[in-house]
This record gives sequence, C-alpha cells and structure tokens, in this order.
Amino acid sequence: MTEFELIAHYFTRPVRRAALGVGDDCALLLPTPGMQLAVSSDMLVAGRHFFADVAPERLGHKALAVNLSDLAACGARPLAFTLALALPCVDPAWLAGFARGLLALADSHGCELVGGDTTRGPLNICITVFGELPAGQALLRSGARPGDDIYASGSLGDARLALLALQGHIALPAEPLARARQRLELPTPRLALGQALRGIASSAVDLSDGLLGDLAHILRASGVGACIDTRATSQLMAESARETSASSALDPELLRQCTLAGGDDYELAFTAPPALRAAVAAAAQASATPVARIGAVQAEPGLRLVDAQGQPVVNRYASFDHFQ
Ligand code: ADP
Ligand code: MG
Repeated sequence: MTEFELIAHYFTRPVRRAALGVGDDCALLLPTPGMQLAVSSDMLVAGRHFFADVAPERLGHKALAVNLSDLAACGARPLAFTLALALPCVDPAWLAGFARGLLALADSHGCELVGGDTTRGPLNICITVFGELPAGQALLRSGARPGDDIYASGSLGDARLALLALQGHIALPAEPLARARQRLELPTPRLALGQALRGIASSAVDLSDGLLGDLAHILRASGVGACIDTRATSQLMAESARETSASSALDPELLRQCTLAGGDDYELAFTAPPALRAAVAAAAQASATPVARIGAVQAEPGLRLVDAQGQPVVNRYASFDHFQ
C-alpha cells in the first residue's frame, strides 16, 4: 500500500462543515462569522504517552480526546482536526482499529478530519484541533480573582492507578482495573461543561498533568494563590479505588497522590465568583457533568492545602513533568 492509498483508504471522508478536506495542499475551513478560532496541538509518542501494544481503537480515541480536552478548557466547540502520523510499517488491522476509534469520537463531536501528514518512523501521533467560540468569550487561565471559588469536574486518579497497575507497581482486582484502565485509555473530554461555563467561569484549565500542577498554571497566569480543601478533594478520588476491596488494599497516601497529582484525567478545573454558584450548578447539570467545589482563590501567591479542620497539610504532590 502506498502512502496515498493509505491516506485515501483510512483517513479520507467527505466533509460537511469544512469547505475542503483531505486531498489538496491545504484544507479550507469555514468558521461561523463573528466566531474566534481556538487551535491546539498535542503529540502522543509511543513508550512515553502510551504502551506501543495498546488497543489501536483506544489509541485513536485518546489521541483526539486529549486534544478535544484543550478545546473544552477554553469553552470552544470542535470544528475540525488534522492528523500527523509516523508509522513504523503499514499494518492494515492496526490502521483500521486506530481510524475506527479516532473517527467515532470525531463524529460524536462533529469534528471533521480535514488533513494531516503521513510518514514512516517510530509510532508518533500529532493532532491539531480547531474549534470556535464567540469572540472574547474564551475561558483563559489568567482570569482567576481573589475570592473566586475553585472547582474540579468528575473524579481524579483512575488513570494514574491504571498506569501504576499496568507497570506492575500496584495490584488491582480485575473489575476496578478495567474501570481505571478505561479512564486511562478512553478519556472523556468535558466539552459540554466547558461550553456551558462560558460567561460563568473566570478561568479554566484541563487536567492532563495532575490537579495541583495544572491548577498552578491558573494561579501563575492570574497572579493569585489558592487554598485547597483536602477533604473536598478526597471526595474526587478515583472511582475504581472506591470499591472497598480495592481501596482497602491500597495505601491511602498513594490514593491521595493519584487524586491530587495523578495526570491523564482530562477533567476540568476552573474558578468562578461565589455569586455564580447557582449558575455553576446549572452548567454542571445542563452538561450532565459532576462538579465539586474544592477551594478558594486568595491574593497571596502559592498553593496551600488544608484538612477538614482548616489545619495546613504539607503539599508534596508534584505533578507530572516529561523533563524531570
Ligand atoms: P503535501 O505534500 O502537499 O504536504 P501530502 O502529500 O503530505 O501533501 O498529503 C496529501 C493530502 O493528504 C493532504 O491533503 C494532506 O492534508 C492529507 N493527509 C496526509 N496524511 C494524512 C493523515 N494522516 N490524515 C488525514 N489526511 C492526511
Ligand atoms: Mg503541498
């Protein structure tokens, strides 16, 4: 199979929203007049972001999901994406599975594959997504203000638990492992929540490297600090670990680590003024996404953790960093 046959067979489909898709030197997009384009890229490298033998369908899903998660964090609606792919060889079964997982998620969000690049090389997937939102309404990292509430969506830590189990560092029973693995390999981008929070959230970030580390991006960009209630964050703990059989076998400190600094969760963390608590609750309900209040923004820089009694908790929860 030639490069062009491969592209034609697996990655070429008629476009409905874009003016021109795969096949020419450029794709042509037609953003809605008055809307701003939101653009983001994420690269997935075999052995670094995923195990080379992961199910290809799941890898296709995840490669797009982590990009859609960035659109979610900005409150954008997905439009289109490009796919740059390095493949060690042409494996039709692998390509069919990869394309199936990728395009199923794309279709479920109306996000069209409009172009890309294909080359031989170590397995590497780079996607660029394009989304749109009303001009000036993007949720940015820089908008948090002292006094704002801090929220996180969904639950945190399953993906890291699955990774630790797959690496052989911890043992998880089959059922919770399958659930945790689903969070690691098939993350759900919180697109509906992100869009529902436009005009409500003062800042937002998606959680790819761990709650505390990603929250620190908001604090730095906004020039503020925060106090986080560890009793509230313990309620976010990985679903897979809630089952008594699993949690009783796991070190509570490890569970805290996974919840606060696990990474690969693809939930949203955001801030909003206390006057908008009802609006946040309505956005959570409208998007069918659980949201929990976990702390408050403060003027004093830095991130402080407190327990149920308001006593300080030592913060030794470093987030994931590819270069450390
Ligand atoms: P060029 O050499 O002009 O950059 P290519 O020959 O690399 O173009 O690609 C031919 C067409 O196929 C282009 O429209 C490109 O966007 C598209 N394409 C290449 N690889 C992929 C891919 N993995 N997924 C989707 N479209 C792709
Ligand atoms: Mg060209």
